[in-house]
Amino acid sequence: MAKKIFGYGDFYCWKCGKNIEKNHDKCPFCGAFYDKFETAEAKGAGGVGWSNQVHHPSFKAWHNRNKKVFQICMIIFSLIIGVILFIIPGELDFDAEGLKIYGGVLAIVWTIDLVWYYFNNKSRKDWEGIVDSKEFEEYTRKVKDDKGTHVEYHTRFIVNFRKDDGSIEKLTEIDSPSWYNYLNEGSRVRYHGQKGMNYYEKYDKSHDEIIPCAGCGSGRDARENFCGRCGCIILKAE
Ligand SMILES: [Zn+2]
Ligand SMILES: [Zn+2]
Repeated sequence: MAKKIFGYGDFYCWKCGKNIEKNHDKCPFCGAFYDKFETAEAKGAGGVGWSNQVHHPSFKAWHNRNKKVFQICMIIFSLIIGVILFIIPGELDFDAEGLKIYGGVLAIVWTIDLVWYYFNNKSRKDWEGIVDSKEFEEYTRKVKDDKGTHVEYHTRFIVNFRKDDGSIEKLTEIDSPSWYNYLNEGSRVRYHGQKGMNYYEKYDKSHDEIIPCAGCGSGRDARENFCGRCGCIILKAE
């Protein structure tokens, strides 16, 4: 059960997208060899044009699996809080008063996590536009810990889009510039805001060897039809 939900020990066929057990060198469903592609070049495999697979059922399946993982993690986390509060001596006694405090702590933790989950998975409006400019800025932050105050160095990577309606949209990444590296100035982009997707599809993918997965976000070989990690279809030109 846990293995199925967490995907541990499994991966997905790059060609047909079916969930397969590890230790196969060949997909038992479609016969494709894992890690061997029919077309020789990754570059160009993404093609030029929009994908019409944005509503493919693999995204919904991935989203539901994610939700299950989130729920299981929350239950385990709540139990751990219980263990810390009741078992470690000097914390809470297992009586009505103790249970009330435990309930209060859980209510706060669950509220924060549900709000976080809501904002990460709510649907946003789709739009089209171009990458107007890219910029980055370095900044420092003072951090206090038990060794005293020290300075942390960070970089903010910003992609500015000009939407077709004329408005500007800003995308900011801290320290890990994945969209910043993938998107070029002048790239035509379609933003997919459906539940949990939050994805910037490039119109011209023909120069990319790596295309980000619209499900799990990992960078995929442009020859893959499906993400080997999460099973979502890769958004490529038709
Ligand atoms: Zn297959
Ligand atoms: Zn994926």
